[in-house]
Amino acid sequence: MTIADRLVQTRERIARAAIECGRRPQDVELVAVSKTKSAEAVREAYEAGQRAFGENYAQELVAKATALDGVSDIRWHFIGHLQSNKAKAVARIAHVIHTVDSVSLARELGKRVAAEGRTGRMPVLIEVNVSGESHKSGVDPRTLREVLDAVRGQATLWARGLMTVPPAEDLVEARRAFEALAALRDAHGGVVELPDLSIGMSSDLEVAIACGATIVRVGTAIFGGRA
Ligand SMILES: *Cc1c(COP(=O)(O)O)cnc(C)c1O
Repeated sequence: MTIADRLVQTRERIARAAIECGRRPQDVELVAVSKTKSAEAVREAYEAGQRAFGENYAQELVAKATALDGVSDIRWHFIGHLQSNKAKAVARIAHVIHTVDSVSLARELGKRVAAEGRTGRMPVLIEVNVSGESHKSGVDPRTLREVLDAVRGQATLWARGLMTVPPAEDLVEARRAFEALAALRDAHGGVVELPDLSIGMSSDLEVAIACGATIVRVGTAIFGGRA
């Protein structure tokens, strides 16, 4: 199957899942996660109509954005752990950042986006470690308020929602994590304040959509497995 075929399949999965829970398919954005895949693979997906791509590593994002420089309407979503010393490069290229997870990163990004002089605010999501696993990135739910306030304190950032990565490829665990994230959103201003939930990957996007996903991040189902 080609990338184009897999994209069609993925969009069908999204549409079916949305309709099944009484939502509109167009209210779920598909981010094609292209980490470790070539710029050529991204171009193939682009030619099949895909516009939003997700990358995890700053250097790889820079390399791919450079390779695809002439393609002006690609939207890059940064979905990996972001270190402050990489904030400049990511602020320059990304259209959405899913992984703000500290007060200091919020401040650094605010400053870097301001220095880029872009028009409009940069949409960012706060990554939350809802399952409390110690090795995972993301803010502890108890410090979410503090990080949200830090983002809102930056004139160049827009806190658009919350993101999480579930503990394992287990649908029961995934649902528990997604429901916990949705509950946190409700406790911090609800859908009006935080319209986006970035949840759902290749193995659990249907569960995520049932739990209110507005963005799903899908890699394997589109580009095939990673080495
Ligand atoms: C790699 C990755 C994805 C995509 O995962 P698949 O299982 O390949 O769909 C989504 N989100 C994040 C944060 C990732 O690192």
